[in-house]
Amino acid sequence: MPIPMSDPFPCFLVQSKAGEIRSAVSEAAIGDLPPGDLLIEVEYSSLNYKDALACQGHKGVAPNLPHVPGIDCAGTVIKSDSPRFEVGNQVLITGYELGATRWGGFAARVSAPCEWVVPLPPELSPRDAMIYGTAGFTAAQCVMAITQRVDPTKGEILVTGATGGVGSLSVAILSKLGYEVVAVSGKPELTETLHTLGASRVLGRESLDTPQDRPLLKASFAAAIDTVGGAPLTAVIRSISHRGIVAACGLVAGDQLDLTVYPFLLRGLTLAGIDSAQCPYQDRLEIWRRLAGPWRVDLPQELVKEITLGELPERIAQILVGNASGRTLVRPDP
Ligand code: NDP
Repeated sequence: MPIPMSDPFPCFLVQSKAGEIRSAVSEAAIGDLPPGDLLIEVEYSSLNYKDALACQGHKGVAPNLPHVPGIDCAGTVIKSDSPRFEVGNQVLITGYELGATRWGGFAARVSAPCEWVVPLPPELSPRDAMIYGTAGFTAAQCVMAITQRVDPTKGEILVTGATGGVGSLSVAILSKLGYEVVAVSGKPELTETLHTLGASRVLGRESLDTPQDRPLLKASFAAAIDTVGGAPLTAVIRSISHRGIVAACGLVAGDQLDLTVYPFLLRGLTLAGIDSAQCPYQDRLEIWRRLAGPWRVDLPQELVKEITLGELPERIAQILVGNASGRTLVRPDP
């Protein structure tokens, strides 16, 4: 049966009105979506830091308005022009241009090119997949970079922004793989939760307030996953022991790096940049295979929150000031 092009569905729309950015629950029709091989009925999306920026009308993230943010989603194919997918298949998308130059997952319908779409692993429900979402996918990429260079006997692994989406899932996966994890967090009230996730030690954010004029600090950690960037990342890089690695993926604490080359020349440090949006398709399949199987982790209840489109503004405000923790699932209900 053909899908009616004009039936309205709920979405979260960001638009410019009289020079001001406004974002609110709205309605769209399939005819409003960009063309794509697949039409997906979204069951869940998730809220990521990049979505919070898109909802503010950040031009570097979402250059075109009006815009529907949501850089990931999971759901069911309801129309397919591709031999790779059939109506009824369960699928997920993270990254590419979803929620960036193309309308994203904060809507009940998404249209996408089939090259972006990953079959949902049978072990995961759409909800499970979006508990991971872009954050879990990024955490897994960071962990993969570390496992290729450092094994669990080499020493402790530092994770910054540890109660955030990428941070909490990084702590949990590393711990599951047998690494000793040291979590850095600005939320002392979540220390016990971080231990439950598998952190053996928890440090405050102030532990990374180090003198900027010292090119190297005590070599304390075998490797690190840094989700915050800026000055904390420079402290992390200077604290890694010989032949270690730092997987860097975030910028919540800043986008500048004030460094010398000594960590690279004297300690052979590898700085691995993590770019999940353009991760090659075959690597995506492997990462999701691991997340559904050998690397599967479950976040404790207090780190998973489920909201509707209408509850987005409040949660976005928390993320932008660094007060949110864990993962936020978004159901495409008004
Ligand atoms: P969250 O907002 O969920 O978590 C970020 C965490 O960082 C917070 O929970 C907080 O943890 C800590 N934090 C917040 N503000 C500051 C600050 N000013 N200084 C130090 N620490 C701070 O974000 P995500 O985990 O989803 O993403 C983390 C970063 O990774 C973001 O910059 C995001 O854009 C980036 N990212 C990059 C991807 C890529 O492909 N490169 C993909 C996905 C995310 P705590 O209180 O425990 O310290």
